[in-house]
Amino acid sequence: MTDNGGLYLHVPFCQKKCRYCDFYSGFADETQIDRYCKALIRSINQWGGKFHRPIDTIYFGGGTPSLLNHRLPDVIKAVKESFNVLPETEITLEMNPTGNAEEILYFAKQAGVNRLSIGMQSGIDRELESLGRTHTFSDTENTVKIARNSGFSDISLDLMIGLPDSDEDTLTESLKKAVALNPEHISAYILKIEENTAFYKKAENLNLPDDDDVCDQYLLMCDYLKGKGYGHYEISNFAKKDFESRHNLKYWLGADYLGLGPSAHSFMANKRFFYPRDLKGFIEGNSPIPDGEGGGAEEFIMLRLRLKSGITETEYCEKFGKNLTDTFKKKAQLFQKNGLMNIENDRYYLTDSGMLLSNSIITECLE
Ligand code: SF4
Repeated sequence: MTDNGGLYLHVPFCQKKCRYCDFYSGFADETQIDRYCKALIRSINQWGGKFHRPIDTIYFGGGTPSLLNHRLPDVIKAVKESFNVLPETEITLEMNPTGNAEEILYFAKQAGVNRLSIGMQSGIDRELESLGRTHTFSDTENTVKIARNSGFSDISLDLMIGLPDSDEDTLTESLKKAVALNPEHISAYILKIEENTAFYKKAENLNLPDDDDVCDQYLLMCDYLKGKGYGHYEISNFAKKDFESRHNLKYWLGADYLGLGPSAHSFMANKRFFYPRDLKGFIEGNSPIPDGEGGGAEEFIMLRLRLKSGITETEYCEKFGKNLTDTFKKKAQLFQKNGLMNIENDRYYLTDSGMLLSNSIITECLE
């Protein structure tokens, strides 16, 4: 595992709130974005000397970080001046399909962004409308086209499954359209109805597929994407060879990362901490809140089992000086019999069906 760290920057602005979203984000005018950027650069400068690892991934998440637009080069410049940023650093910008992609991507390219994560969500306009998205599928096509013309060769598309009124046919249509755009990476998340969202308030009126249908959609997606050459490397992530998200892998491999911006979480030297969901507070210079210790054996198992590479007893033993428990191994054998886990030599990893039940399997294994 790499000793290098990652930097996450949370940009809490969106044009409009999507009906299913509980991320910390909201509308802001240009003046507020300017204020936030000043605060972000200030915190980058403050943290630079305190993060004692070189960094090789920078991730702008949100929200809609592409709303930083012409401000992006100054933020990345500040990061490079304050941190030991290695050459070949992966710099990801999340963005939504938009009419002003050309302008955004001009500044992104100038700033050194080399990976884009585009919120496609669906290939069907009716679904996008019901999610409260501000774009159509044709906006996604145009944004990807402009990104390619601007020289971006590492593009990820975000998709959602288990949407209202969806079935295997609608999902297949979205998958076909996504793959036709030839992205290097695809993330696909199952819709969850979270409290404090517009969907939550009208949940009983949503025609959601039941749990079995969602499982079928997930398995269909895994097969479809594998058939198109995308490796299924994490529960919700698929990539062409060597295009896995290096930044997100840091979370699952237990590397150090620093998160700046309201609601951003960090893990440094086995300590977890986070900035509150409070834009005003962040602009005024609030401090992050401690969130306990991390990096223990249980967490290691939990995170590794999210990955298709799973966990080996050898690496567990090297890290914690002990073998996996007998309970873990017995439970793993049981899950293997039920087709939910594979065991190869000393490697344990979940099958696609197992990934759907990862939370309960992991809890069982850790009992
Ligand atoms: S664009 Fe993304 S972050 Fe913004 S409201 Fe929609 S889902 Fe949430």
